[in-house]
Amino acid sequence: MASPSDRAPLVERVEELLAVDGPLPIVAAGDPVLRRGTEPYDGQLGPELLARFIEALRVTMHAAPGVGLAAPQVGVPLRIAVIEDPAPVPEEVAVARGRVPQPFRVLVNPAYEPVGPARAAFFEGCLSVPGWQAVVARHAEVRLRGQDEHGHAVDELFTGWPARIVQHETDHLDGMLYLDRAELRSLSSNEAMARRWTHPTPTTAAAELGFKLP
Ligand code: ZN
Repeated sequence: MASPSDRAPLVERVEELLAVDGPLPIVAAGDPVLRRGTEPYDGQLGPELLARFIEALRVTMHAAPGVGLAAPQVGVPLRIAVIEDPAPVPEEVAVARGRVPQPFRVLVNPAYEPVGPARAAFFEGCLSVPGWQAVVARHAEVRLRGQDEHGHAVDELFTGWPARIVQHETDHLDGMLYLDRAELRSLSSNEAMARRWTHPTPTTAAAELGFKLP
């Protein structure tokens, strides 16, 4: 529980961020705010400031562009993230990766647990690690629990690419980056990705770069 005395710095921080119109600056790897973890959201911002903050996260995610953004990525250590993926990829890629469109969602105090042993390994990237991608083996299906932006309970199963997105964003809230879970031998610049690793799956990259797939 936040007491009034430790509420103030967070509110000030968010108000300062929102004083400037347009997308918020995204914090890059190396900033401790991405590593410290977050405090659960229990009303620290109040409904009006929360709504404005969520809108700023949405605008920033779209501008990047990205399919998810966690509050620490704009320097705010609260357990809040947004996701949205229009999935603009070729059919063959969409099918292989389970990349179905994910409507805009706000995740408040999310936590996930695996459903079954299946794992899926694909290249992913992060707005806080610009210019690079790496293969991460993640749970193929997860159960996500938490709240939405109105405080209503969420308890849902996610599969395919949306399961990857919610794991990536929830990890941010625990002070983790995708590189902590990645096959580091798969690390590829965006240029290398565009030139070599556009296949629907990372099988060829695994053979040529020398890393294992689950
Ligand atoms: Zn990220």
